Amino acid sequence: MNFFNELLNGDFMPHGHCLLWRTDLLLLHVGGDTLTFIAYMLIPIALIRLVRARDDLRFDWMFLLFAGFIFFCGATHILGIINVWHGYYYIHGIIKSMTGIISILTAILLWYLLPQAISLPGKRAMEAKIVALMRAEHELAASNQRLEAEVKKRTAQLEKMATTDELTELLNRREIMRLLELEVARADRQGAALSIMMLDLDHFKAINDSYGHQAGDRALKSAAETFKQQLRKTDFIGRIGGEEFLVLLPDTNISSACVLANRIRQALEQQTTDNSAIPTCTASIGVTQYIASDDLHSLIQRADETLYQAKSNGRNCVYQSPD
Ligand code: GH3
Ligand code: MG
Ligand code: MG
Repeated sequence: MNFFNELLNGDFMPHGHCLLWRTDLLLLHVGGDTLTFIAYMLIPIALIRLVRARDDLRFDWMFLLFAGFIFFCGATHILGIINVWHGYYYIHGIIKSMTGIISILTAILLWYLLPQAISLPGKRAMEAKIVALMRAEHELAASNQRLEAEVKKRTAQLEKMATTDELTELLNRREIMRLLELEVARADRQGAALSIMMLDLDHFKAINDSYGHQAGDRALKSAAETFKQQLRKTDFIGRIGGEEFLVLLPDTNISSACVLANRIRQALEQQTTDNSAIPTCTASIGVTQYIASDDLHSLIQRADETLYQAKSNGRNCVYQSPD
């Protein structure tokens, strides 16, 4: 209240020779110091809040030191105001010295940290790094996908190689025998009909001798293709020897199997006669049906014997095993 009374009756001028007893100088100094003091108290609070909120902040103790330095600067300004009216010069001097010490410490540390702070990547550099990282990640994902597709393709190729005959692309011996075992087990379990046929190309040695081995290969491929075209989707055909084939006919009795065998035989004869690029070629076929007392060996043997009969009785014909 005293201060306001003095302010109103014009009796507020400072002591001694302070500020030449001029009102304008007094207001200029006191006003400037007051504003600086307010700002210097707000800045440390803001810095402390920043350090608390950001635990990833680097050099956080530097921020705290800076907050201390600003606080002491503020304290010297408030004492500068008080000293206009009351001369606490001793306290003012102590605070000024403390401000000086903390300022020097802050300055030393600032210079010490300067190279590290300069070497920190800027916003643009960080953005460029993030973009490069995202691109690398994208490329990695794409190359992984390519690799996965390649592995799938190779696996499929390997599976095909393991089960397929290279020349005719029919099933190989191992695969058709594996399927025969499964079909026999199924026929045994379900009591379903199962017929098989054994096919052998006639006088194939002579074909090779007359037209050459490559023409023989072409004839083999073409015969395999013809056999495949005549079969149903549920049938299986495999190459079990040089010019010998085994056909599995699930859910088929022997009479239907013989009809199919004759169709195959005629198709082969017709096709090789029509096509001048391949030697004329016929096949003998032995057909048999699975019976309950059969095992794999007896079933194959019976088919073989029936084929032998077809061979002995003139070739280019179908024989079925006796009941
Ligand atoms: P048959 O009517 O009694 O069966 O007489 P064949 O000449 O067909 O029978 P043989 O067992 O005496 O000869 C089979 C021939 O098949 C001999 C072999 O050179 C030929 N052959 C086997 N595999 C291949 C092959 O992959 N390519 C070619 N071009 N010929 C093959
Ligand atoms: Mg033969
Ligand atoms: Mg043979």
